[in-house]
Amino acid sequence: MREWILTKMTIYLDSAATSRPGEACLNAMCGMMRETYGNPSSLHRFGLEAQLCMEQARKQIAAALGCEAASVMFTSGATESNHLAISGAAYAYGRRKRRVVTTTVEHASVKGAFDMLEAEGYEVIRVAPDADGILRAESIVSAVNEETCLVSMMLVNNETGAVLPVQQAFAQIKREYPQTITHCDAVQGFMKLPVNPAKLSADLLTVSGHKVHACKGVGALYHKKGVRLIPLMKGGEQEGAMRPGTESVPLIAGFGAAVGELRGTIAVRAEYASGLRSECIRQLSELEGVTVNSPADGSPYILSFSVKGLRSETMLHFLSDREIYVSSGSACSKGKQSGVLQQFGIRQDLADSTLRVSFCAENTPEDITALCTALKAAQEQLVHKR
Ligand code: PMP
Repeated sequence: MREWILTKMTIYLDSAATSRPGEACLNAMCGMMRETYGNPSSLHRFGLEAQLCMEQARKQIAAALGCEAASVMFTSGATESNHLAISGAAYAYGRRKRRVVTTTVEHASVKGAFDMLEAEGYEVIRVAPDADGILRAESIVSAVNEETCLVSMMLVNNETGAVLPVQQAFAQIKREYPQTITHCDAVQGFMKLPVNPAKLSADLLTVSGHKVHACKGVGALYHKKGVRLIPLMKGGEQEGAMRPGTESVPLIAGFGAAVGELRGTIAVRAEYASGLRSECIRQLSELEGVTVNSPADGSPYILSFSVKGLRSETMLHFLSDREIYVSSGSACSKGKQSGVLQQFGIRQDLADSTLRVSFCAENTPEDITALCTALKAAQEQLVHKR
């Protein structure tokens, strides 16, 4: 009974941090753990069965990306996919080209991979948004030259929902410098907006399981045929020797099932999320001192806003006490600011009081009302008390 009450009361508005695993995912995972628990590398029939399930999941991810199954490599998540793509592509060039380009608004895992390359002597160019907070394709394109071996740019920013002009930038880069490898961290776009690596002109593209109603600890890297990568680890032939180690078949099967369940509903879910986001903006506009930080043409799934005079963490705990779960900025930074909001031109005092709400199809308009009612209560109890 208690469990039921907790579930009914919980308002989860943090799906960009992680999402609730769906039924299809849970069933697939349990089946793999209870019954099909063979090692996919084993030569007996039991191993083969596990391998077939894994290949089925690969086909499901590939179908969602509109690519061949052979181009999908499973990893432990987007952080690993990003490192494999960035370091792997840069190392594949050897000493010939050691100039790499990225943006200043990337997720910490991409930033970390480039920081590591920089420490190894690579020249890292980090392109910032313009003064108006918009990151333009021309800025990325003009940072690339003959010496550039790799460009990496995210599709949807995880803190504001800003959609970056990846298709425009990569298409032009590929026209001018066909040898330059293009990588896109598409974690916050996958299964939410149409994501097709060929259409984006991306040679490498990162996705994560737990943002799409699968489990934590599994992701994939789209890897265009013929693009050379140096693996980060050695010692096994799994995933074409690119990612050695016994594959986590239950997580992979759950990932495939979750994606299979969502396929075909991208447009309807996006429209629904867009309705929730608009309603949230409308109700926020009725509160005093609220500034919306997300761009109007951003992802329908993410809304960043600041509540004047209330620090993010204070607000987050106030909401958490009422079983309303949101993020302060980005969950990955664990309360530590990443600096990305300032890069988008958001003032420091507003950045300090930023909350990020992120939606999924399970949210309802009542969730939005509950959030905004609680925000109003927080303003009355916390701001006016001072
Ligand atoms: N990139 C982006 C844009 C993300 O939002 C996240 C998760 N916050 C990651 C990468 C890392 O994903 P994972 O947790 O699967 O490593």
